[in-house]
Formats: sequence, structure tokens, C-alpha cells
Amino acid sequence: MQQLLQMIWTDKKNVLLALLAGTVSGLTAVALFAQSGLLISKAALMPPFYVILILTAFLKLFGVTKSASKYAERYISHRVTFQFISILRLDFFKKLLPQAHVLNNYKSGDLLARITNDVEMLQNFFLRVLYPPFIALLVFLATILFTLFFSPWIAFILLIGIVLTSIVIPYALFRRPFQTATAEKKQLTVNATEYFYGYRDLLLHNQLQASKKTLSTLHTSYSSTRRKELDREQTSYLWNQLIALLTGFSVVFVGAYLTTIGQLEGVYLAMIVLVSLTVFESAVPLSMVPIFAKHTKKAIEQLEEITSKKITDGTIDLIDLKQSIQLRNVSYQYPSATRLAIENITMDIRAGEKVAIIGPSGSGKSTLLQLFMKEFKRNHGEFFIGDDDIDRIRISSLYEHMSTMLQHNHFFSGTIKSNLLFANLKAADVTLQQALTKACLTKNLEDPIFEKGGNLSGGEKQRLAFARLLLKESDLWIIDEPFTSLDIQTEQALFNTLMNEAHKKTLIMVTHKLTNLDQFDCIFVMQQGQIVESGTEEQLLAKQGLYYSMYHKK
Ligand code: ADP
Ligand code: MG
Repeated sequence: MQQLLQMIWTDKKNVLLALLAGTVSGLTAVALFAQSGLLISKAALMPPFYVILILTAFLKLFGVTKSASKYAERYISHRVTFQFISILRLDFFKKLLPQAHVLNNYKSGDLLARITNDVEMLQNFFLRVLYPPFIALLVFLATILFTLFFSPWIAFILLIGIVLTSIVIPYALFRRPFQTATAEKKQLTVNATEYFYGYRDLLLHNQLQASKKTLSTLHTSYSSTRRKELDREQTSYLWNQLIALLTGFSVVFVGAYLTTIGQLEGVYLAMIVLVSLTVFESAVPLSMVPIFAKHTKKAIEQLEEITSKKITDGTIDLIDLKQSIQLRNVSYQYPSATRLAIENITMDIRAGEKVAIIGPSGSGKSTLLQLFMKEFKRNHGEFFIGDDDIDRIRISSLYEHMSTMLQHNHFFSGTIKSNLLFANLKAADVTLQQALTKACLTKNLEDPIFEKGGNLSGGEKQRLAFARLLLKESDLWIIDEPFTSLDIQTEQALFNTLMNEAHKKTLIMVTHKLTNLDQFDCIFVMQQGQIVESGTEEQLLAKQGLYYSMYHKK
């Protein structure tokens, strides 16, 4: 909250200008009607013509000033808001970016809702929560002071009116905790996102109807809560209007009485009545303040839940990654899991070594690779790259010298070329073409790629990812089951290319195939998160342990 206020305050010049414009606009609206009332009354008394002329001129002046200041108010206050929202979005995005592991714990619909709805909701923080009370206060104060000149009684009635609309009614209506439709909306977004993501599988498993039904139930409950929310808004608005009207009536009666007993000049009566009716225009937005306050508070909480998570990026920049990598008793447990995903891992990898990690599915191989990529922070143990703790190394610097080819690689909509270029922006077309050839992918650079590589087969995706790997200049390759979707001949060809190209690099490769492992300097065999055997293929076969039995079953 404080941070938000600070963000808004960075643009204080415009904030003050918006407040000024808003107050001028509120006051000129009041003045416009006051002047009209005065003009009507004066005209009835047939004053000299110049009086009418002057009054009409003022009327025009107030009319123009009101429109101009209203425009200025809208323009400046929205500019402040958009400026603030853009800072907020950027800030949120910056904090979100390095937290891949945190994001994994959120459903994508939920995240999407936070990024769009919640950030957007915060634009109301200035426009509809902070700003209206200030304007209302200033306009009312000025108007009450003005009426004080004519009659303290009428000023008093106006004071009661403002206290009722701005304090008593909101307090009475919103005193008890009230429900907003935020939770329902979030649930609906989450389910709708899953529905669309999983549409095909739901269809194939005959679950579409059931899913639709859940969505429809959620929608009904959202609509009903939302309706209640709107009812409350309307009730608050109605009360506001009712009080404005009652105040107007009271002013008419009291004003008329004061005129009859000679305490108020009759010519000012119409003016004062119109003033009292108009001044409540500034109070209209007040009826919504508690609702928006609640919405924005909730949105702040939702966003802070993510952004307040501590980001653990390092400060050291690596010159290169031609360094040894040491793990001592490293363990990691996923936040939502009940057991360790990897346990007591000890590894020594020298620069330039080729290392294979094998083991059954679920044994923790991919998790281990993610620790190399600093996607998670280990719970126990030591992890050194050269002489530096990996925690102290800046992620961007780590990635600068590392290339990865993971089980799921993302491709952006565009062309083969655009998808290759982002591995190496400087690569010439010839180089890109060479990489494609090395990856045995017979595609043209200008061939289109759909979002998420939707028009590529599994094997094509792997070859494109491999071409991308070849293009990036780096010292360390981290590869997770690279060629699972390929036929044996292509796989062998690509594996040979991989080993040739990785000649001077450190290679850490997860594989479940036990072919070609004689080419690795060390094989780590994993089982249930632990390394159960390690050594060269020759050593492991000689040992006649787990690797030996897996090897003979292949
Ligand atoms: P492998 O790559 O060897 O097949 P993983 O490293 O992917 O295995 O998974 C190791 C274990 O961690 C598995 O038991 C898996 O269920 C669990 N796991 C993987 N990802 C997550 C996650 N995001 N949250 C919780 N548990 C996970
Ligand atoms: Mg895996």
C-alpha cells in the first residue's frame, strides 16, 4: 500500500494538478448553478440591463471553465493513473520474471487474472479511492464557506448532508464485512483456462459435459455474487441521491422561512437551493469508495503475494563457464511435495567433461538439471561453479555461457529463422542453414512456425531445438533426453554431431537410453532422487551393479 502511494507520488506534479482541476471543475459546477439561480431571481426584479449582461457573461465564463477543467481533470488524472499502472506492470513483471519456480506453483488462469485483472483494478486506487474524497472535501468546504455568508443555518444543513453521504451512509452500508465477487471470478478464470487448455483431452475422454457443468455452476455463483455487489453499489448510490434531495428540500424550506423572517434576502434563495443540489454531484463518486477500496485492497494482496517472494539472484558475473562444477550432498524438495525430489547428490564435473545422468522416470534427473540452471534453490548442501557458490552467480550471467535443450522447448510464432536467431542474433543465414543441416532438419529458414510450434512434429521440435543449441556460443551444455522422438538412424547421426560439437564444452546430458554411453567420462545412475552408482561405463559394467543389470536388459 505504502509502495503504491509512493508510486503515485512520484508523479506529484500531475497529482496536484489533477486535484486542482477536479476542485475547480466541482466548484465551477456549483458556481454555474448558483449564478443561474441568481440570474433568474434578479431578472424577475427587472434590474438595469447591464446587471443581466454581467451575470450572463459570468454564466458563460463558468460554463466554459467547468468544461475545460473537467476535461483537464479527466486528462491529467488518467495520465497519472496510466503512468502509475505502467510502472506497476513493469515492476510486477520484473519481479515475476526470475521466479520460474514460483510461477510453477500457480495455475495459469490464476496468474493471468493477477497480471491482467488485478493490475488493472489498481488503476481504481487513485481514480476511485484516493481522489474522490479529496475533491468532495474541497468542494464542500468551499461551498459551505460560501453559504455561510448568506446563512449559517443553511451552511449547517449542507454540513449535515455531507456528513451523512460521506461518512454515515458508507459506514452503515459497508460496516459489516461484505462479499465481492473476486474469489468467484478467479475460480471461474482458473477453470475456464483449464477447460480451454484441456479441451481436446476432455473431448476424447467424454468429460466435456461434466466440465461445462462445473463451469456453468461457477458462472451462476459468480453472477449471483456479482449481482449482490451491484445491488450494494446501487443502494449506496440511491441513498446518496436521496440525501442530496432531502438536503435540497430542507434548504428550500429553511431558506423560505429565513426569507419570511427577513434573515435571508429572497433574491438569493434560488441560488442557494441550486447550490445545495449541485454540490452533491461531487459526493456521487463517494458512494463507490468503500467498494473500490475493498477491490483494490484485494488486488494489492494478490499481487504482493507474488512480488513479496524473495528473489535470490546473485551478484557475481562469470567471465566464462569453463570451470569445474561441484555438488556436495545437495538435496531439493518441491514446495508442494512430501518427499525429496533429489537427495544427497555429490558430483564433481571438471571443465570439458562429458557427463551422462541416467535413471528411471521420476528419479529426479530433470530436477537436478534445473538446479544447474538455478531455477530452484537447493534446500541443503553445497553447489559450486569454479570457486563461486552458484547462489552468488547472477542468473543472466550463468545463462550467457550455458546452452540448454530441455524436454519441452518453446517455439514462438514466426519463422524457423526467427526461432533460431534468438539463440544467436548475429548468426548469418548461412550459419543458420548449416545448423539446420547439422540437425538433419530439412526446412527452409522462412518456413512459418505457429505459436508453441503447433505445426511441428515432436521430432521436428527436437531437431529445431538442437539446431538452436548448436547456434549459441557457450561453454556448458545442459541437455535433457534430447532425441526421444526420433528414429534410430537420425538419433545416432544427431548424437554423433552432438558429441563432435560438444568437443571443447562441458556436457551434462540426461538420457534414458543406454547406447553410446562409452563416450562419456562419467555416468551417474539415479534412483529415487539419489545417485546410486557412478563411473565410466567400463567401471560400472565391471562392478556388475544396477547399471550392469540395466545394460543387459536393454
Ligand atoms: P525425471 O526427470 O527423472 O523423470 P523429475 O526430476 O522430473 O524426474 O521428477 C522427480 C520427482 O519430482 C518426481 O517424483 C516428480 O513427481 C516430482 N516433481 C517434478 N516436478 C515437480 C513439481 N513441479 N512439483 C512437485 N513435484 C515435482
Ligand atoms: Mg525428466
